[in-house]
Order: sequence, then C-alpha cells, then structure tokens
Amino acid sequence: MRRDHALIAMFVAVAGTLASTAAGAQSKPPEPATLQANAELASTLPFSDRQDFEDAQRGFIGTVPDALVPGAGGKRPAWTMQPYAFLKSDTPADSVNPSLWRQAQLNAIHGLFQVSERVYQVRGFDLANMTIIEGDSTLIVIDPLLSGETARAALALYRAHRPYKPVGTVIYTHGHVDHYGGVRGVIDEADVNAGKVQVIAPAGFMETAVAENILAGNAMSRRSQYQFGTYLPPGARGQVDTGLGKALARGTVSLIAPTSSVVKPVEQRTIDGVQFEFRLVPGSEAPAEMLIYLPQFRVLDMAEDITHTMHNLYTLRGAEVRDGNLWSKYIDEARVAYGERTDVLIAQHHWPTTGSARVVSLMKKQRDLYKFINDQSLRLLNHGYSANEIAETLRLPASLENEWSARGYYGTLSHNAKAVYQKYLGWYDANPANLNPLPAVQSAKKTIEYMGGAEAVIARAREDFRKGEYRWVASAMNNVVQAEPSNRAARELGADALEQMGYQAEAGTWRSAYLVGAMELRNGVPKISVGSSANGDTLKAVSNDLFFDFMAVRLDAAKAEGKHLVINWNFTDSNEQFVLTLENSALTHIAGQQADADTTLTLSRAVLDAVTLKQTSISQAMLTGQMKITGNRAKLVELMAMLDTFEPMFPVVEPLGRTESR
Ligand SMILES: [Zn+2]
Repeated sequence: MRRDHALIAMFVAVAGTLASTAAGAQSKPPEPATLQANAELASTLPFSDRQDFEDAQRGFIGTVPDALVPGAGGKRPAWTMQPYAFLKSDTPADSVNPSLWRQAQLNAIHGLFQVSERVYQVRGFDLANMTIIEGDSTLIVIDPLLSGETARAALALYRAHRPYKPVGTVIYTHGHVDHYGGVRGVIDEADVNAGKVQVIAPAGFMETAVAENILAGNAMSRRSQYQFGTYLPPGARGQVDTGLGKALARGTVSLIAPTSSVVKPVEQRTIDGVQFEFRLVPGSEAPAEMLIYLPQFRVLDMAEDITHTMHNLYTLRGAEVRDGNLWSKYIDEARVAYGERTDVLIAQHHWPTTGSARVVSLMKKQRDLYKFINDQSLRLLNHGYSANEIAETLRLPASLENEWSARGYYGTLSHNAKAVYQKYLGWYDANPANLNPLPAVQSAKKTIEYMGGAEAVIARAREDFRKGEYRWVASAMNNVVQAEPSNRAARELGADALEQMGYQAEAGTWRSAYLVGAMELRNGVPKISVGSSANGDTLKAVSNDLFFDFMAVRLDAAKAEGKHLVINWNFTDSNEQFVLTLENSALTHIAGQQADADTTLTLSRAVLDAVTLKQTSISQAMLTGQMKITGNRAKLVELMAMLDTFEPMFPVVEPLGRTESR
C-alpha cells in the first residue's frame, strides 16, 4: 500500500527496482568546456598531499573482496564495491571532477581497521562507519550502519580477525538511518528485553529519529534519489560517490529503541571497563546527536559533526536548515575539552586523523568552515544581497579552500550559503516582483512566447551550449520543457547541459542530481516498483501525536469540504486518549480528551500499526476483538476515503501529470 510506504519510507529505506537498466546508455562524452574546467580545478589543488590516503589505510587488518555483502534471499547485493573498480585509475576519468575522483577513491577503501588500542572501525561497507570498542568481556558497537545485511557483515569481518566477544552495548550517535538501521544485524531484541544488551542514545533520539522524515517523507524520498543517484548506474559517466561515502546500502532497515538516554550535556559512564564521556550536540548535524570521548585510549569520535568534507547546512533531499553558528560552537567546545588530549579523531563517516596537533588543526578548520559560511552569508544579506548573489560570490579563504576536508563533496558553499539566507530570511528576497510570480508552467509559456518560440530558443541555446554556458542552457531548456514537456529537442539539449554540469561538479550530491536530471529528461521518470524494505520498527517509533499529524497531512481538503466528524481514540497499551476532529477541511487532534463523538475506537497501537502495514484489516481486527468500534462506524470509513495516497515517483524535471512515457 503506497501511502504506508510514504509513512515508513524514511529517507532511504525504500528498495526500488528499475524496470529498465538502459538508463546510462545515452550518456555523452565531456565537452571541451568541461575538460577545461576540470583541468583548471586540478591545477589549483594540492594533489601531491597524500596524507588522507595514508590515514585511510592506517591500521588495515583485512577485508573481503569488493566488500561484497550478499542481499537477503539471493537478491542483488546489499553492498559491493565491484561497480566502482573504475576508480582504481590514478588518472581521473575526463567525465569526473578530479577533486571528487580523489574523494571517491578514498571512500572506496574498505575493510577492518585498528584505530587504537581496543578501538576498531569497519569502513567502506555502507555509507557510514561502524566503530567497535573491545570491552573487558563484551563489544561496544557505535552506529550499526544502515541495513541489517551490511551491519551483520561488518561485525563478521571484525570477528574474522579478533577474538569472539558478544555485543553487550550498542550506541547510536544520532538519529539518521545510516547510523541505526542495521541494528538487528548486530543484536537481538530479545537480549535487549532480557537486559543482556543495552542500547544508548542521545536524549531525544527516538522523538527525532523518524520525525525528521515523516510529514514530508514522500517528497524527501523522491528527492533523495536525486541527491544520492539511487537509480543512476555507477560509472565514470554515472554515479561515483555521495561525497560522504560510496552509496546507500540496500537491505533491511530496523530500529531498536534505546534502553538508556544520555541527558546531561556532558556525561561520563564506564561500560565494561571502558570509560566514556558523552557530549550532547543537539541541533548540529542532527536534532539529537552526541560526541564520544574515550580518555583511556585518547580517541575522540566526532560522530558526524566533523567529517572530511564540508557537510550540509541544507540537504538537497529537503530538510529543515541547520545552524552553522551552533555547529561551529560545538566543535570549538569539543576542541577545548579534548583536542590536546586526543591522539586519534574518528567520525562515523570517513577516515581518522592522528596526532594531537593535526587533530586540533582539523577541529579549528572545521569550526571556522561553518562559522565562515554562517557569518559571511549573514554579512552579505545585511548588505542587501539575495541568496543567489551570495552563493555566486562567496569564496572560502585560501587557508580553507586548499584544505581537502573543507571542500564541498556533500554540502557545497553555494547551497549552504543559501541555507543561511533561508534560515534567517526565508524564501522571499523582498523584491515584490518576486512576491507572487506566475508558477513554472505559466511563466515558461509566456517566457518562451516572448523569446520567439521554442525553436528560436533552442537554436540560440545550441550556440551557448557550444560555448560551455551550461547553467543558462539548462535553465532555458527547463523553460521549454515546462511549456512543452514533449519537446524532444529541448529535453535532449537540457539533458546534455545538465550532464556536462554533472561531469564538472565537485560535490557527489550535485553530480548525482545533475545526472539524474539528465537521465529523466531523456527517459522520463523511471518505471520503478517502489517497495518498502522497512519493517514495523520505524512505524513503532512514530508517536501517536505524529501519527495523527501525518494522517492530517493526507487529508484531501476538497473531499473534506463541508464535512464534520469527531472520532474518539482509546489506546489500550499506552492508555493515551485522543479526539480527532474534522471540520473546515482541517483534521486536528487533541490528547488526553474524549468528546461526544460520532465514533469511538478502542485498540492498541500495535493493532493500528498492523492495519497500517496491511498485516491485518480493520474488519479482521474487529472480528478478532483487537479493535472495538462503537457509534457510527460509517464515519470512520468516510474519513479513510478522504485520505490521499502519495505517488512515490512524481515528476521532477517536467510538469506534474505530464510525464513522458518511454
Ligand atoms: Zn551519516
């Protein structure tokens, strides 16, 4: 049931299969302007500095060929580096930005690595890292990756080289799915319930882990396909890297709730002979997040607040904007607290940095990177510049520009500067000509008409394409496609322009976005059967409050026109009560109340989840007595009929409802 997928899809937990694999077949070679742009960039960057490669290989113990992790039930692999073998060449392909090529090579290094005494990492087996700490008699696992398959394989790799110890503790650094989704691959919930295994997370973890991705979830899922290049074939003219790691793993996503939360800003605990200092950094890279310091081993785990890239203040898949000023402060506080006492800085993505002096230097540069973006964007907007103008003109100081870890492989200076504008001023640039412009299709039709018609525009754009003016050509062809979605020449030329921009992009996210756009202009929206690989874990983590909020988001206001109904909900497991009211085409709920209602429902949340996941039906639940309905049952049926189903594969580079079929 598609609407359930929207609910439980999260931002990546969707396993799709491409009906056609011809997607990359029409790619074109890089144009002279692209070759020149890539060569120019290559000449400005310190490629002779090979320190990162040394760091990424230090402590290597072993791996498995291609880091291959079979998929469940003999399906295609949950993970494999095999399609990225092309990255072994030290000469970057001419269709890949040379700086991204370097980052993609670093992210292709995989295996089990010793970080320090009793601290290990499995890297290159998923988007994120799994950190494993050897307690006196148990293992402490920090961040069990994104899928059960990759997490199980990562732990197996560790165990192939180290003495067996059971996992006694799992720690989630934050609530992004690449850091918890594989938890059932490393522990059994029965052991958690029996008190044999503890799960530790920062305060607010459960509330925020799923909340970020529910209400706008369907749009985020679709947009994340652009950011990550989910259906883009890997290759020198295809997907090469996300910037943060190679790709998203496939497989089974799960979630086991924490048994213990870190609530104090700084909290010390000893776990099986290992001393931990947890430091909360809420509202930095994630709403709930924490850093971890291990004083015995002088190891600092910066979670995802320091990686070897400029991270996102705004993520292209769509999310609320993050606070660069706060992020910078947290890094500086951690530097003061631990910098001089740290021999190895690790994170839950990328490779470690060793030596206190280098650690402190990295921390200062990352601190200043986010501070710079925040403050300089604010300075320029106070001078009256618009978001686009700020993004166009802002340049990092040379000391950061030439620092590999500050380069934009995941976030970019351009879209992060716009994020600051968005955070403080929002979408409106205060120019009233932009206050209420025509929407894309109407505006495009008038624009193309004023420009002398599609044919004239395309002819001019072909000249500009030859001159390498891809940004303008992509924009002009977007206008033609919005006005005339079946204009083949415009779609092809628009695709060609986006493709060249993809070949030039330094950020993995931008490259994927451009190349997916090109693919969809050429071929239309991929025919994908979107099936959810999530189990009920994610849904279980959705609070009743959020459940009703999402139900309200699905209300079709036109169908609800003039309707009024009141439904009481009684949850037998949590003893929570709600009144759900529909009037004025708005579905509201209030907790702790019961009203003189049309209908009263008595059920457990587990039953509601089972109905949502289609494991049972309302009538089945009533027959078995799991759900009781009193009053007018027809009102419930009436409400259900007003709830929308979201299309997971909506058009992005062409007008809605005008998808060109292949
Ligand atoms: Zn992550």
